[in-house]
Amino acid sequence: MKEKIFIAAHHYQHADIVKQADLVADSYRLAVEAAKSDAKYIVVCGVRFMAESVATLARSDQMVIHPNPRAGCPMADMVAVDTAEKAIEKIRGITGKTPVPVTYMNSGNAMKALTGRMGGSICTSGNAKKIMAHYLEGGAPILFMPDRNLGENTALALGLGKDDLAVVSRDGSEITGARPDTRVFLWDGFCPIHKVFTVADIEEMRAAFPGINITVHPESLPEVVKAAGLSGSTEGMHHQLRDAEAGSVWGVGTEIHFVERMATLFPDKKIMPLRPSGCVNMILITPEKLAASLKAIEAHERDGSPLETVVVPEAEREDAKAALTTMVRLTDA
Ligand code: SF4
Repeated sequence: MKEKIFIAAHHYQHADIVKQADLVADSYRLAVEAAKSDAKYIVVCGVRFMAESVATLARSDQMVIHPNPRAGCPMADMVAVDTAEKAIEKIRGITGKTPVPVTYMNSGNAMKALTGRMGGSICTSGNAKKIMAHYLEGGAPILFMPDRNLGENTALALGLGKDDLAVVSRDGSEITGARPDTRVFLWDGFCPIHKVFTVADIEEMRAAFPGINITVHPESLPEVVKAAGLSGSTEGMHHQLRDAEAGSVWGVGTEIHFVERMATLFPDKKIMPLRPSGCVNMILITPEKLAASLKAIEAHERDGSPLETVVVPEAEREDAKAALTTMVRLTDA
């Protein structure tokens, strides 16, 4: 039975979940690698958009199970198709061009489908630079959704200036700072967990631990990314900490369960949270919920008992898949 089940867990999951997982990864590897598994049942321990992405890429003979459907992502809920379409019309009016959507993995499936329909791509914090660079070369304005900070940090890292950027309100009705030649329109969404880090947190930590290395997630404010000096996706931070010199001291600005796990995993370094900030949705996947999912799978296998699976509407599947596979193609290019 065990070989029929593949448990995929996001890096922000609690250590009790991580120790049971066949794969522990960021949202990119979760989507791409979990769906490649031979298993009939894929249990996704993370938030809803992660389970939906796996279900979009999974084979038709695979079933995707999300142990707690209540585990969503507030950032993903900050953009919807109707508000995005409203903004797209406004951008057409300002620039005379149809923008290409670059949509963060942290979005609902309908948004991924809209992105695919319009020839855009999904991105993650690990590949946003590559994907934004590709579309900038194409010349059309980019509509980056829903995380403003990731979009701005990526654009600045690519050498764009603040004048090249405009901000779209979360209801899609207002655009601030736009010009006919604006290169990137940033949706005004944010992650409540990463938005809390401040430059003062960094200054305090540097004062307390002279010589400390600070790294933050690019969902943090641009001034925080700049003050930190180092930033990285979850997977990127994992590599930074793994490869760091023994004895080095680190302040890490991202989700607390990840930071705590890195401290346990790499005890030869001193790893501390820049500020404790936990995702209340990620912890909705508890060992009890995971155990209940595994029991439900066993019962389904034994006697066909009903099993709650993640179902992607057929009308969205192909377009969402196109947006996800474009991301994979551009990342591997
Ligand atoms: S950490 Fe932020 S972006 Fe990630 S699931 Fe939680 S709220 Fe969403």
